[in-house]
Amino acid sequence: MLIVMRTAATEADTARVVDYIKTLNLTPNPIPGAQRTAIGITGNTGALDPALFARFSDVCEAIPISRPWKLVSREVKPDDTVVSLPGPDNQPAQIGGGNFGVIAGPCAVESPEQLMTAAREVRKAGARFFRGGAYKPRTSPYSFQGMKDEGLELLAKARAETGMPVVTEIIDTRDVDLFAQHVDVVQVGARNMQNFALLEAVGSIKRPVLLKRGMAATLQEFLMAAEYICKNGNYQVILCERGIRTFETMTRNTLDLGSLPLLRRLTHLPIIVDPSHGTGDWRSVPALARAAVAMGADGLMIEVHPNPAQALSDGPQSLTPANFAKLMTSVKAIADVVGAKL
Ligand code: PEP
Ligand code: MN
Repeated sequence: MLIVMRTAATEADTARVVDYIKTLNLTPNPIPGAQRTAIGITGNTGALDPALFARFSDVCEAIPISRPWKLVSREVKPDDTVVSLPGPDNQPAQIGGGNFGVIAGPCAVESPEQLMTAAREVRKAGARFFRGGAYKPRTSPYSFQGMKDEGLELLAKARAETGMPVVTEIIDTRDVDLFAQHVDVVQVGARNMQNFALLEAVGSIKRPVLLKRGMAATLQEFLMAAEYICKNGNYQVILCERGIRTFETMTRNTLDLGSLPLLRRLTHLPIIVDPSHGTGDWRSVPALARAAVAMGADGLMIEVHPNPAQALSDGPQSLTPANFAKLMTSVKAIADVVGAKL
């Protein structure tokens, strides 16, 4: 159920309703909005009676929510969630609500030279967020597993020099405090989209979470995974469409751009697109990046490596800095047409 407070309701009025919800052994989730405060109620197994809230004159409406996802839904929060962090040039780096954010960088942190070159190049081309995996979830235990803690330190150096907030993947619940301390946006990868312990853990930190769609996840499962994070109080969640596995074998994944307008209607969370993992081939990345911005995505995640042929992971889908700069030029042109702020 969603409780919508009157616009004139004070914090004390909301607190009274919150306390009442607790007496029902349910969980109140206050969600301040641009126009009004709403309180999402979770924890109920059956339907709640809206009449329970008739006693509060500051409650404008009690709306039953029939969907299995609640806190991520547009019904609960009609206005777009905006993720905003301190960014380069003393300007915020933002994703959502009309702000188009480009996250770029190598698949994995490999060395100080590789990382710093990548950071300088993507910044020069206009990226406002920097990515690089320090802990890599690899299919083979014999593949490069990432530089781990040392990788996090290098990312911090890249942030210090370029001003870009850093995005990197967490693969273990035991690292949550470490990430909360050193990382700006915590990525939960496709392979962990339904690692519920990890979702709960990142839900209880105060860092934005970039949640990638699982490779066989339906949109409902994707939204429910985001719900796990919001349920623990963290509403700073960015959804990332990164392709799903289908019968097709000539592309690494099938990039489901059709999910975009549907997710946009269902959720207030920002939605970005990763055409690098979505296609697996650098030659296809620019076209799908342009399609994503034209379709109203809130941002892109693009893999860029100073020397893709030498990359320790995902070289075939990584752009050179020069090709990334070209991509940015065409993406900016489309952003202007669709009114996205880049
Ligand atoms: C990545 O971003 O490098 C990554 C491993 O992505 P995904 O989880 O989408 O496969
Ligand atoms: Mn990768």
